[in-house]
Amino acid sequence: MNQPQQQETRAPVNHRILVVEDEGEIRQLIRYNLEREGFTVEEAADGAAALARIRRRAPDLIVLDLMLPGMPGLELCRQVRADPEIASLPILVVTARGSEVDRVIGLEMGADDYVVKPFSPRELVARVRALLRRAGHATEPTSDGLYERGRLRIDFDTYQVWVEGERKALALREFELLRFFVQHPMRVYTREQLLDMVWGRDTFVEPRTVDVHVRRLRQHIERDDANPRLILTVRSVGYRFDPSALD
Ligand code: CA
Repeated sequence: MNQPQQQETRAPVNHRILVVEDEGEIRQLIRYNLEREGFTVEEAADGAAALARIRRRAPDLIVLDLMLPGMPGLELCRQVRADPEIASLPILVVTARGSEVDRVIGLEMGADDYVVKPFSPRELVARVRALLRRAGHATEPTSDGLYERGRLRIDFDTYQVWVEGERKALALREFELLRFFVQHPMRVYTREQLLDMVWGRDTFVEPRTVDVHVRRLRQHIERDDANPRLILTVRSVGYRFDPSALD
């Protein structure tokens, strides 16, 4: 029998996606649509089971419903981001329609992107693909090497960051934002420019996402994130990175 045409357009790399959702029907719907695109899908019905699975063998991406019994989705998000071994795992959050608060908190807790229920399967798959494309850069070998200045040390090859010798658990996007700042010091960038250059064109996020990530990055690298010296806010324009504050 001939293989259907669709077979050839499937994902060349068999990415493993963990779907965390307690409602079986929705889990099946997500699974069906991801498998149709060639992804390998694993399932977890609650946060604790998901975390155990991730620690045993990390997937390439998590699709995480925020409404879960037991450990809430946001708590799972927080625990993933707090563990340096798995902190850069891409997380696509699923939230209820119109829950602005969930979206904002989700991004603050380290989610990389979100879809709002009810979502179209096409949208979900597009966002999964976009996140994996971004994350793919993290696993490609680079020759960017090491950045060391004052109390900040960044290994661009392994995506590790140390502040005063202590290893920090940065989400992938926080790392990319930090890299951009370090490589483009002193220049002022608008939120839109940062979205373009750090998030890329296949982005679905709003400019205020930049503020959320800057805030999280400041918590990692500033001495006092209430009085930032490294990532400076340039009022009504955007942000500027001043590495001299590291000395
Ligand atoms: Ca749910």
